[in-house]
Amino acid sequence: MKILVINTGSSSIKYQLFDMEGKRAIVNGLAEKIGEDIGELTHKVIQADGQTQKHEFHDKIADHGKGLEKIVDLLTIGEQAVIKDKTEISAVGHRVVHGGEAFQTPTIIDSKVIDAIKENIPLAPLHNPPNLMGIEVAMSIFPDAPQIAVFDTAFHQTIPAHAFLYALPYELYTKDRVRRYGFHGTSHAFVANRCAEYLKKPISELNVITIHLGNGASVTAVKNGQSVDTSMGMTPLEGLVMGTRSGDVDPALPFYLTSHLEMSINDIDSLMNKKCGMKGLCGSNDMREVLEKIESGDQQAKTALDVYCYRIKKYIGAYYAVLGRLDAVVFTAGIGENSPDIRELAIAGLDHMGLSIDKQQNRKRIDGINEINTNDSKVKILVVPTNEELKIARETERIIKA
Ligand code: ADP
Repeated sequence: MKILVINTGSSSIKYQLFDMEGKRAIVNGLAEKIGEDIGELTHKVIQADGQTQKHEFHDKIADHGKGLEKIVDLLTIGEQAVIKDKTEISAVGHRVVHGGEAFQTPTIIDSKVIDAIKENIPLAPLHNPPNLMGIEVAMSIFPDAPQIAVFDTAFHQTIPAHAFLYALPYELYTKDRVRRYGFHGTSHAFVANRCAEYLKKPISELNVITIHLGNGASVTAVKNGQSVDTSMGMTPLEGLVMGTRSGDVDPALPFYLTSHLEMSINDIDSLMNKKCGMKGLCGSNDMREVLEKIESGDQQAKTALDVYCYRIKKYIGAYYAVLGRLDAVVFTAGIGENSPDIRELAIAGLDHMGLSIDKQQNRKRIDGINEINTNDSKVKILVVPTNEELKIARETERIIKA
């Protein structure tokens, strides 16, 4: 069975084609700059031995429909083709950012689901509209394939009221849906399950803190396999320091920026989402650049990294208290998987809480899961590669088989 997984942004389509029998992606790619004069499409065919052949195109991609048509052509025609025609694709799995309270599990998309995703647009104005566009385009190109929505928020729907409510007038929750939703749920769920497999423990008995450090970043407290708290909130702005987002700040900050600097709501929105985080603190949002700056003696970059890691440590402490018993702490995503320095700094000084890192093992690059705690560490510390697309493909397969 072949399943196509699509993650549509406002000017991009990220995609992977999975062979579910072989349990692996056979193609992945990214169409970018959709709607611009010259679009970019990178299409990689992945062999069974992991070798990839890369095909790059620089042509105008007028809209998402044209982009997906081009992707289907690449999958089906020419020397790089991997399937005979598009009917070989049994289903399409879509990443949808905000499911609000309506979706606790992946769902077959019908008109009701589309309406519900639309209803959640006010909660995710930047993400849900392109996600919807991806769904509509895929429905027209694959009219016979079931379309499945997998929501970033779904895993966090088990968070109890005492953790998802903000201390605001209650009607803001009941009428206006203001609450913590949390994001990156597909990734947190995926690595928690991989951690359970690795520790040979039923997921229903696993307590773990999962730390997803990519361009966006979030921490989740997982109790008995379920999300019970997470650092992102009503929007992905809350919580950890990120590439360009501030994470936690004093909620009175916007009042000060308005009265003191005469900033508008739009200015503040753009500031806190696009110009803060590591970029605001030291001028670089790409963590590799930050680490290079530190290497060359940049003190401001070092201070920024200290802020970044201190925030992670604070959440580990808080979620340890929330969970009571802790089996493991898991690092994942671009930074979590690739930066031993950040893992070491975030865990430093937590030995008294049973978290001791093995510095040598932490520096080793390992395919798959790397256990980086010392032998006598009470709590396991793991690096677990995330794979949100594979998780979406598996959920899609499970649903269409059911
Ligand atoms: P996204 O949220 O876009 O999926 P990723 O999970 O790909 O993001 O993470 C992107 C981040 O990972 C970037 O800040 C990048 O600099 C960082 N990163 C990638 N490789 C390394 C590395 N070797 N060392 C440190 N940071 C890295």
